[in-house]
Amino acid sequence: MFEQEMDFEGRLSRPEYTKADEEVEVSLRPHTLDEYIGQDKAKENLSIYIQAAKSRGEPLDHVLLHGPPGLGKTTLACIIAHEMGVNIRPITGPAIEKAGDLAALLTALAPNDVLFIDEIHRLSRSVEEILYPAMEDRNLDLIIGKGPSARSVRIDLPPFTLVGATTRAGQLSSPLRDRFGVLLRLDPYTPEQLADIIQRSAVILGIACDRSGAVELARISRGTPRVANRYLSRVRDFAQVLGNGVVTKQIVREALSRLEVDELGLDGHDRLILETIIKKYAGGPVGLETLAAALGEEAVTLEDVYEPFLMQLGLLARTPRGRCVTPAAYQHLKIPQSGQQNLF
Ligand code: ADP
Repeated sequence: MFEQEMDFEGRLSRPEYTKADEEVEVSLRPHTLDEYIGQDKAKENLSIYIQAAKSRGEPLDHVLLHGPPGLGKTTLACIIAHEMGVNIRPITGPAIEKAGDLAALLTALAPNDVLFIDEIHRLSRSVEEILYPAMEDRNLDLIIGKGPSARSVRIDLPPFTLVGATTRAGQLSSPLRDRFGVLLRLDPYTPEQLADIIQRSAVILGIACDRSGAVELARISRGTPRVANRYLSRVRDFAQVLGNGVVTKQIVREALSRLEVDELGLDGHDRLILETIIKKYAGGPVGLETLAAALGEEAVTLEDVYEPFLMQLGLLARTPRGRCVTPAAYQHLKIPQSGQQNLF
């Protein structure tokens, strides 16, 4: 298990979107701010901005949503369009390759529509630059043709709202960030809020789930609705076959042990990360890049997706010299901690 490369795709606890999530997510997506659970501060502010924009008959100011994957950024973008009574055109940053692609998207919008750019930190510089005047003055300056016959044309755009989503707000250039009037940060959900989300999802999916089951699932779902919904869908099968169809705490525990998710909610990959630091690097400190290479994983994924949960559980620490496991990690993995190991 220690040396072996693990299959990183298709893991239930991975908060990033996979194609397999599509069907369930579409049916579970809340459509109004009232249905959207948690994120109270972001919701309250947004509700005021939406009401004000609607009463003025103007588009909502451009909105930047940032926070870890699976917390509800896409959902909120759809809710904004729904509450404003306009259409949404979703696209991801890397899919807009040329200035012309952006022009085609923007000119196809009806007045006050929402253009939703997911992973906006991955826009190319050249596209980003023509986005500035579009956001600010609603016009696009395009160069048509090449060489001596090239000429610049200015296109006036309909009023629109750009909603950008990013997991890495720090990677956004400041000229782009400054052009958003509304910046909203989404935070991980509390276990109580996640349990509410799970119970709402269960009703929609026709799954019987009591509070004890929802709370137990919420506890291991990393503050992330996407992960919670995935666990719920999977545990349903166990409830049907091993129980009487109701997702209870006992069924959740039984299902998770079969899925090799331990009582803290760690799966095989989390344990591999901790074991690698312990066995290859004497408990740390080890640099992020080195650790990522040892695991065959991208450093950003390790940093954004896995480490927050391990740190939240007090099993891992980020120090100026690198990553260290804590004594609690040794205890949890039942690995004896030798004297000179682990500088934590
Ligand atoms: P992101 O765009 O941040 O990766 P999504 O908006 O795609 O996340 O959300 C993932 C899933 O979690 C969606 O299916 C959605 O139904 C659910 N979800 C997210 N936030 C909430 C919420 N506040 N209330 C209920 N369900 C939510």
